[in-house]
Amino acid sequence: MSTNIENILIIGSGSAGLTAAIYAARAGFSPLVLTGIQPGGQLTITTDVENYPGFQDAVQGPWLMEQMQKQAENVGARIEYDLIVDLDKDVWPFKVKTDSGKEIQAETIIIATGAQARWLGIESEEKYNGKGVSACATCDGFFFKNKNVAVIGGGNTAVEEALYLSNLCQNVTLIHRRDELRAEKILQNRLFDKKNINILWNNKVDEILGDDFGVNSLKLISTKDGSETTIKIDGIFIAIGHDPSTLVFKNKIDLDQDNYIITNLGETATSVPGIFAAGDCVDKIYRQAVTAAGMGCMAALDAEKWLANNK
Ligand code: NDP
Repeated sequence: MSTNIENILIIGSGSAGLTAAIYAARAGFSPLVLTGIQPGGQLTITTDVENYPGFQDAVQGPWLMEQMQKQAENVGARIEYDLIVDLDKDVWPFKVKTDSGKEIQAETIIIATGAQARWLGIESEEKYNGKGVSACATCDGFFFKNKNVAVIGGGNTAVEEALYLSNLCQNVTLIHRRDELRAEKILQNRLFDKKNINILWNNKVDEILGDDFGVNSLKLISTKDGSETTIKIDGIFIAIGHDPSTLVFKNKIDLDQDNYIITNLGETATSVPGIFAAGDCVDKIYRQAVTAAGMGCMAALDAEKWLANNK
């Protein structure tokens, strides 16, 4: 088993992890990035990205992440295709075990392990992913300008997505499996006030239907009496929650009730001094590549300062 001592170990290679790597490398460290199971993170499973600043035209998500990785490497970050399986936070330097059998010692750690959107788990959802099926209205809503879309879910995310889409789309249908929403009342009131949002209660999606051009309708089943209906739509946004990739940190670093890493507002320090966190493993509200990148930058600056004060 090989052992190295790292100044700054970054766990995760989405926009938070790679931005942290760029900043840490440019500050004179040679940070090690463990990519995790999905190198490049959630942007690698999207197509057109139009809201990441700096590009006149849409860029492809996988291309953007490849560029970010090359940028990090060019300024001195080291990238390893490995994932963390255990953390010992009670020793310093901290000890991390990886899937490939390595043990890495690290003076500071930046956790940027991200989150995964929950999906319905039906076959047609995968078939039309990127062709009318999305889990992010802010990312993909623009492609459905003046069209008719459905949003699935009854929580804060679903209601916020529906409200966002209602400003772009002709009509939004919120489809919820029960007859009441779990979203906050203030959001519910805004939703009910919108003229171009209608709600289909007590229904779930049985199948997403489409053709070579993408999604064109949904087959729904009533959760009350099992009756079937088909509605015409151009796009479907699944908003049934996200799961942060933080299980390996449970009982080691403070997590909230939804397993997101707890940091103070505007900070990246976790409950363990010397361990910082950034991006979607912390943030359940904004969840954007650009906000994750911003937090990655903050985490690198915080880690550098911590090393300067504690080493
Ligand atoms: P939630 O877990 O709160 O809600 C998920 C919704 O999806 C529920 O209504 C649930 O239905 C429904 N659902 C779950 N699985 C399925 C399924 N298989 N088929 C159909 N429907 C399903 O997730 P959110 O992403 O909305 O929110 C997560 C956390 O983030 C919450 O704590 C939320 O408050 C917070 N948040 C806060 C925001 C803010 O403050 N502005 C914005 C966004 C999120 P059911 O109700 O029947 O269980």
